[in-house]
Amino acid sequence: MKSHAQAVVIGGGVVGCSVLYHLTKLGWKDVVLIERSELTSGSTWHAAGGFHTINGDPQVAKLQSYTIDLYKEIEEISGQSTGFHLTEGVFLAATPERLELLKVMQSQEKLLGIETELLTPKEAEKILPIMDPKEFLGALWTPLHGHLDPSGTTHAYAKAAKLGGAEIYLRNRVTDLQQNPDGTWTVITEQGTMQADHVVNAGGLWAREVGRMVGLELPVLAMEHMYLITEDMPEVAEINKSTGKEVLHVVDPDGEIYMRQERQGMLMGTYEKACVPWSPKETPWDFGHELLQEDIDRIAPSLEVGFRHFPPFQRAGIKQIINGPFTFAPDGNPLVGPVRGLKNYWCACGVMAGFSQGGGVGLALSNWMINGDPGFDIWGMDVSRYGDWTTMAYTNARVRENYSRRFKVRFPNEELTAARPLRTTPIYERQKAMNAVFGVAYGMEQALWYAPKGMKPVENITFLRSNAFPHIKAECQTVRNGVGLADISSFAKYEITGPGAESWLSHMLANKMPRQGRLTLSPMLNEKGKVIGDFTVGKLADEQFFIFGSGAGEAYHMRWFESHLPEDGSVTIKAHGLGLVGLTIAGPKAREVLAQLTDADVSHDAIKFLDFKKMELGMVPAMVGRVSFTGDLGYELWVKPEFHPRLFDDILTAGADYGIKLFGSRAMRSMSLEKGFGSWATEYRPIYGPYAAAMGRFVDMKKNDFIGREAAMKELQDGPAKRLVTFTLKAKEIDVMGNEPIYRDGKTVGYVTSGMYAHHADKSVAMGYIPAEMAEEFSEDIFRVEVFGEMLPATILSEPLFDPKAERMRG
Ligand SMILES: Cc1cc2nc3c(=O)[nH]c(=O)nc-3n(C[C@H](O)[C@H](O)[C@H](O)COP(=O)(O)OP(=O)(O)OC[C@H]3O[C@@H](n4cnc5c(N)ncnc54)[C@H](O)[C@@H]3O)c2cc1C
Repeated sequence: MKSHAQAVVIGGGVVGCSVLYHLTKLGWKDVVLIERSELTSGSTWHAAGGFHTINGDPQVAKLQSYTIDLYKEIEEISGQSTGFHLTEGVFLAATPERLELLKVMQSQEKLLGIETELLTPKEAEKILPIMDPKEFLGALWTPLHGHLDPSGTTHAYAKAAKLGGAEIYLRNRVTDLQQNPDGTWTVITEQGTMQADHVVNAGGLWAREVGRMVGLELPVLAMEHMYLITEDMPEVAEINKSTGKEVLHVVDPDGEIYMRQERQGMLMGTYEKACVPWSPKETPWDFGHELLQEDIDRIAPSLEVGFRHFPPFQRAGIKQIINGPFTFAPDGNPLVGPVRGLKNYWCACGVMAGFSQGGGVGLALSNWMINGDPGFDIWGMDVSRYGDWTTMAYTNARVRENYSRRFKVRFPNEELTAARPLRTTPIYERQKAMNAVFGVAYGMEQALWYAPKGMKPVENITFLRSNAFPHIKAECQTVRNGVGLADISSFAKYEITGPGAESWLSHMLANKMPRQGRLTLSPMLNEKGKVIGDFTVGKLADEQFFIFGSGAGEAYHMRWFESHLPEDGSVTIKAHGLGLVGLTIAGPKAREVLAQLTDADVSHDAIKFLDFKKMELGMVPAMVGRVSFTGDLGYELWVKPEFHPRLFDDILTAGADYGIKLFGSRAMRSMSLEKGFGSWATEYRPIYGPYAAAMGRFVDMKKNDFIGREAAMKELQDGPAKRLVTFTLKAKEIDVMGNEPIYRDGKTVGYVTSGMYAHHADKSVAMGYIPAEMAEEFSEDIFRVEVFGEMLPATILSEPLFDPKAERMRG
């Protein structure tokens, strides 16, 4: 074994081998992979080997499409067959909701440039004669669907990587990792130690244990998973003969089943509700090429449906049942990228669909390691979407829920229930008593909306407008016509202090720094000039700044901030989490309510738009910023958690004469859409520059030194290729959920980032990116947005729906 490598990949499953291959492909030759046993010795060897492009997150779907395209390439380079069978496939619908979802899947595939076809059950039966058309309502035919040989594929990656210069050490377990003072790693293995500039955790079934070597508790858990293989079936032979092709790959989500041809029989796998985690606390190091005990009773309910949906199975003999473990993150998507606070430690784990996603994971991670950026928007797979609150018990509950719902219809307004409540603010019980309907973001409970007294605080899950609609409308009207109160503790709050705070922040953020007692809004850019954050920045005192941003981005942003801190200790940054909590009052009467809480002068001249100061509100010490995401007159009030209930009660008392009412995050979003405000991870993403994202006015080009300036200047000079715009839609009873295609003259020109009903304006609204040259085509209805297969006429707004001159906000 050599003594030093640029990168050591730990784990020789399909994911580790893909990472190794991509590192060599992108130019790193001095890379090694260390495998405990033989290649494929984790979950890879017993996989069913199926692949397709479908994913709820279109950015992940794009990487799946890349993965499938890659198989030819690695076969050609390595000379090793992957056993690639592009059989094409069908997704079946047995319920009306599923049929609606097939339309959504079809439009998402269009965004990838993939043409699919919606079929009636009779049409579907023609291409899949083993199905019973009476059991279904429709089907979606997809071309990029098939299966391969898991072992052949892994070896093809490995051989291609070796040809690119990589070395692979087998039968050699990594037993520990120690970080050296310069940020490089000592990799301790059974066969000796190696120095590595970078290490990659591609430990698959042992990713948790490889995480624990460096003090990390990664949110991954292995689940048992079963599929069966039938004896030869005459119906299969008949299909092969009459079509000259294999049986199509099938996903029957309502039956919780997937299947494909295996030799002359069929392979049928299930995601059963009564699922079982495997080795929930610790994965044994001596687990090798063995299978788990099959449990036919557990999958019997799914098989029963399967046998009814596909009658030839009733006559087929079962040759073998495979039960093997594989890992999941709580939301079922991979955990990829660098880890906050751990220099040169990279994750490529939690990959539950290694043969659909492994290539994309390898490419994104290698890009990131070599070029400092994944090269795509991989927020949906970024390990930083979870914070340090993901305990083992949390992960266990969420993964089990995710597995058992793998094929369930997920409605856009549906909130999952496992592992809740976990993170709550001090006013949670009060909100609950006031009939809040809660959702969860970054593990934290937040009030979505409030049901009126006497109504059960439950939202019916639907693709249409739900029972919440009139109540969210009422909340918006309360704010727009009077005053509302909301909890804003879910924002991320960072405090930056020290003699170097101002110059460091100014280097990190694109806008000029606020004067003391003021706020500014600022995007944060990466070196490529792309938006990686949007913040409100406040200067409270000399050498003391607060910045506020997306709660879900906390670990993502802290990873970036901390990796850019000067080493001389002149700057300190702290993420307050729920150590600092907030409330906002907003609406034309907000000032009057604030005046009731303090003796201080709160007149327009005393607290101007974007002022930021310490104040005493009743008995509570607070920081007050005059700004509101509602786009109305409003104040954000930040306090220590022990004061949260007191301030909440005092505001409600003070606001009683002004008709104050509570509002939730749905009303907040509805109102911010009326102003055309975007949000992190939907509108503001690391694939768009500030001018594309309509944030140009928050970039201070006069400032010579901030990250991404040069690239942003180029975007300004050349003009952005895409632009973020806001549309109104002619929608009747259904609004966008995000990721719908936008059309102009019958051609796809963009996609929706987010949207909902703008209640005060009484319009259905969607935001999205389109080619810049179309961004000012304001004529009515010249665009179309495809929502559940319906082409809704769409019009670009030339100015915000609410308060276009910002008189309310600034007044
Ligand atoms: C029954 C079943 C059916 C499946 N069907 C499909 C399917 O149809 N399509 C699909 O895409 N996916 C399927 N999967 C999932 C697929 O198997 C996984 O997505 C994939 O195997 C993940 O690969 P990996 O490389 O991340 O992990 P693993 O395959 O678990 O590989 C990890 C490797 O790391 C090694 N390792 C760990 N720790 C160390 C250490 N400290 N030192 C050295 N080596 C170490 C292990 O020995 C192992 O070889 C299925 C899984 C199962 C169980």
